[in-house]
Amino acid sequence: MGFIPYSTQDIAPEDVAAVTAALTSPFLTQGPAVPAFEAEFAAAHAVPHAVAMANATAALHLSCLALGLGPGGLLWTTPNSFVASANCGLYCGAEVDFVDIDPATRNMSVEALAAKLAAAPRPPDVLVPVDFAGLPADLAAMRALADRHGFRILEDASHATGADRHGRPVGSEFADIAVFSFHAVKVVTTGEGGMAVTHDPELARRLRSLRSHGITRDPAAFVAPAPGGWHYEQQALGWNLRMTDVAAALGLSQLKRLPAMQAARARLADRYDRLLAGLPLRLPARIPGFRPAWHLYVVEVDGAATPVSRRALYDALRAAEIGANLHYAPIHLQPFWRARGFAPGDFPDAEAYADRAVTIPLFPKLTEAQQDRVVEVLAKTLARAEAA
Ligand SMILES: *Cc1c(COP(=O)(O)O)cnc(C)c1O
Repeated sequence: MGFIPYSTQDIAPEDVAAVTAALTSPFLTQGPAVPAFEAEFAAAHAVPHAVAMANATAALHLSCLALGLGPGGLLWTTPNSFVASANCGLYCGAEVDFVDIDPATRNMSVEALAAKLAAAPRPPDVLVPVDFAGLPADLAAMRALADRHGFRILEDASHATGADRHGRPVGSEFADIAVFSFHAVKVVTTGEGGMAVTHDPELARRLRSLRSHGITRDPAAFVAPAPGGWHYEQQALGWNLRMTDVAAALGLSQLKRLPAMQAARARLADRYDRLLAGLPLRLPARIPGFRPAWHLYVVEVDGAATPVSRRALYDALRAAEIGANLHYAPIHLQPFWRARGFAPGDFPDAEAYADRAVTIPLFPKLTEAQQDRVVEVLAKTLARAEAA
């Protein structure tokens, strides 16, 4: 059957045709494809502004800057995420701390957030909740806390393109800015790419400026009279973190295919739920009214119901050529963050989760035969351990 990865891109002939057309157009970058992708993405997410970037890490970094985060500032995020959710605060010279997860959803815990706000000497300037595995975080509750304590919300929706809460797309409400990733393993891909969406025109303007050297070519925005049509102004210190037109063309094509890809992921997730129901595993949470993007499907070994270790399960899957993975080793336990003072025990629910979790394959082109193979290896391994 060959190696089954935990995730892989879904590139269709129409994606190839779209990229080919971009490659043979007059523009490889700074042409019409980026604004077209931004417009489609904004429409799909029910927001007025979408700003494309080289990747989601850049979008998180520039969003922190646009929100005014800087030296002396403070960012809180969840330890159960990719390191970029935390690094963006340090890029700006701010301090970073974490809020523990809710073991049921694996997302940032609203209770832990409220408790930390009550106990901490000051609230954060920016909160970065993550829609882990594509399951939307409880942003309605976090928005209420943000309004009370006066912090901004930067939603890391890197896993959640196409997810919604009660029919309203992730990114369309609650967050000041929401960021999406189009890395090759994510739900929609541009190879490398990211998008920041917002309702706030001033934040969108800052994001556009920061992604392109702090330069504006909009005569209405010039601080001095333009000496001629060639004129542009650098008004801030920015970077070059633009998306190319080639990448945006792929993104536009992928976005058209998102409903079909999303349906395939959801169907396979439902099927995992059914096939794994009898095993001593905790399956992903279902929240009424929340439609996940199903970027990842993570099971947790239920230690109360089986002596099998996560390590044994992971090794058995790998030995069977199944690309099991861990999402995520808690950020605060990475050597870089431990050197900054974090230690085991700081965020016990994220740590306990990470000791139990195994990501199993889920992507639109996963076949039922491949999925059956994954289930068979899980069932056999858990049965063997029980018999021993
Ligand atoms: C993938 C990912 C990122 C970074 O995305 P890139 O586009 O690779 O920079 C950030 N946060 C989370 C939660 C991610 O999964």
